[in-house]
Amino acid sequence: MDNRTMLVIVVGGAGLLGLVAAAAGKSGLFSGGKNFSLSEFFVTDTGLDNDTDDPKVLANIQALIDGVLQPIRDQWGKVTITSGYRSAEVNEAVGGASTSQHLTGSAADIVMAAGVDRMAVVEWMHASGLQFGQAIYYEDTNHLHVSTGTKREVLYKDASGYRTVYSG
Ligand SMILES: [Zn+2]
Repeated sequence: MDNRTMLVIVVGGAGLLGLVAAAAGKSGLFSGGKNFSLSEFFVTDTGLDNDTDDPKVLANIQALIDGVLQPIRDQWGKVTITSGYRSAEVNEAVGGASTSQHLTGSAADIVMAAGVDRMAVVEWMHASGLQFGQAIYYEDTNHLHVSTGTKREVLYKDASGYRTVYSG
């Protein structure tokens, strides 16, 4: 059975989620929102295979775009994803937590355009009332971690560990 045959069976069996998968699969039909494509969420510098057709993951990525990434893009300009979805192997290779939201396609590490203050971005995420799970500012890198959810938790990470900036 080839992948295309399997996808048809998934669509037949899983209803709406299957249709989402069919639209979002490797056919290039994934809408992604105005400024994001599915392939951006599968990037990895580990050399490991890191893409998926799992309809739950694809739906989570779409929710991450619609709820978090596109609003940030609309307000702050170009957003570059340095790590989105992670397979279990990739997550282990990069030392990710076993409960990481990257494993379900619900989190992304992003780099903002030159000149954009990352702290201003996370302050805006909180102050604007945006629904998100976590936003983490990493002092020792140039990226932010953002995820879907309802906690609206903002963390600041430096050499001494994680500090809570906003708990909700
Ligand atoms: Zn992350």
